[in-house]
Amino acid sequence: MNRNVFLHQIVFLAGMAFSAGCAVQPPQTTPTTTIESPIAIGPETDFAHIDLGEGLYLRQIRADAFVVTHAFPWPANSLILEMENSDLVLAGTPYTPEAMETVLEWIRGHFGERNIVAVNPGYHVDNLGGNDVLIKQGIPVYGSDLTAQMLAERGEQTRQMLLGMLPGAANERYYKAHAEIPYVAPDHLFPIDQGLILTFGTEQVEVYYPGPTQAPDKVVIYFPAKNILFGSCMVLGGDKAGNIHEADMANWPKAIEKLKRFNVDFVVPGHGDRLDPGLIDHTISILESTP
Ligand SMILES: [Zn+2]
Repeated sequence: MNRNVFLHQIVFLAGMAFSAGCAVQPPQTTPTTTIESPIAIGPETDFAHIDLGEGLYLRQIRADAFVVTHAFPWPANSLILEMENSDLVLAGTPYTPEAMETVLEWIRGHFGERNIVAVNPGYHVDNLGGNDVLIKQGIPVYGSDLTAQMLAERGEQTRQMLLGMLPGAANERYYKAHAEIPYVAPDHLFPIDQGLILTFGTEQVEVYYPGPTQAPDKVVIYFPAKNILFGSCMVLGGDKAGNIHEADMANWPKAIEKLKRFNVDFVVPGHGDRLDPGLIDHTISILESTP
């Protein structure tokens, strides 16, 4: 195995345009009808940042949906969603147990005590690094049988390769943390080919596997009542495919085509600032131009 496994994340770090000083949502000055639709849509949209500490912030994209970005050091996205019955769903996790704890503290401050359910989109640490804390706190963590298997078989190998991407004194803090993050498998497994439907009151969440993509086990998580698709790392938010070491380049574009059946206002990639539905075609065009 070469050391390019996490190169896609490096590429994002290099190419990332952080929207520093991003526009704060203007306060509502006039009463309006109930807002059911997203606050705003589009590739250039800046959402208000809620800063949770170094490298960790939220963007609120709807009243009931927050994108979590954790740059440790490579920015990666996860999601917090409030369901119709008041339960919360976490799609993906930040990299570290510490960041996961910070996010859970924010959740309790913002929403109060709620039932929380987590779903892992894959076995890489940017998908499930918070599992140790979630499981210790009694939060059920759903993931595919393949994700659990790959974590057991390849987790430590991917850790070593990631550590290889963190050389020198400047990375010492990240290196130490990544060397110690417990890689904990999801504790509620489903057969990946069957996917998973979770029901919260009248609202459903669909976990869908379109076949192997950027890694063999990536799944997407669809929120039909919110028109949000968490594409995770199979949806590309930057300008390059980056790491294709574990990728199935033949199936990946076909898999992305399958995502077009979802009605979406937002598509959240594993990495990158863009959150618009155009990311589906953007991903396909990047893959087509990747040798
Ligand atoms: Zn990733």
